[in-house]
Amino acid sequence: MTQGEAVIKALREWTDGKLACSRRCPVCGRILLLVPGQFHRDSKSSSGFSWRCAECACRAAKEWASQNKERRKIRSRRWYEANRLRQYANNKRAEQADPERYRRYHCLAVARYQKRNKENIRDKHRIYKANYKARRRNAVGRLSAHDVNALWIKQGGKCEYCEKPLLTFHLDHKLPLSRGGRNDVCNIALSCPRCNCSKKAQTDEEFRQCRQLA
Ligand SMILES: [Zn+2]
Ligand SMILES: [Zn+2]
Repeated sequence: MTQGEAVIKALREWTDGKLACSRRCPVCGRILLLVPGQFHRDSKSSSGFSWRCAECACRAAKEWASQNKERRKIRSRRWYEANRLRQYANNKRAEQADPERYRRYHCLAVARYQKRNKENIRDKHRIYKANYKARRRNAVGRLSAHDVNALWIKQGGKCEYCEKPLLTFHLDHKLPLSRGGRNDVCNIALSCPRCNCSKKAQTDEEFRQCRQLA
């Protein structure tokens, strides 16, 4: 199969057998390919696609949402409830039909998710731990994944102290929580595990001096 044929085959699959063609969006007037990404799917329409292009549809949806905040809230809550219950019912049915297979499948799915999101899960856990420790010490502030990403960018992915590239990181409180440090982004540095573990209850300044002496 040539690349061109592969593309046409993919288009046929996307369009349920109907070969993709182009269509003019009546809202913005652009002529676009009738493929997902350019037009939203719509199973109720005969072509399988929405009458306006994806961009126009998104714009209209955003406009509608900004003008109908309360209705939108109710709608999304209803959707969430319905789908959660349906998902739950599907899972239950699958488990009852074949518990052994379900368990196998479920374990596999969980393992696959964990493998694919190893670093994300680890980051989340670190943030959770830092927040937990801070709460126990009644420290002010709360960290989010957003803060950590910002720090990573600010530090160029390097350890704050030894400046080696971070393969993995610890969340270091520059002024330690034990000495009244805050648990917010101004008081956090990403450090390599080695630096973080040897720093202990020193402040970042003390630790830097200590490193210079050594
Ligand atoms: Zn359009
Ligand atoms: Zn380091």
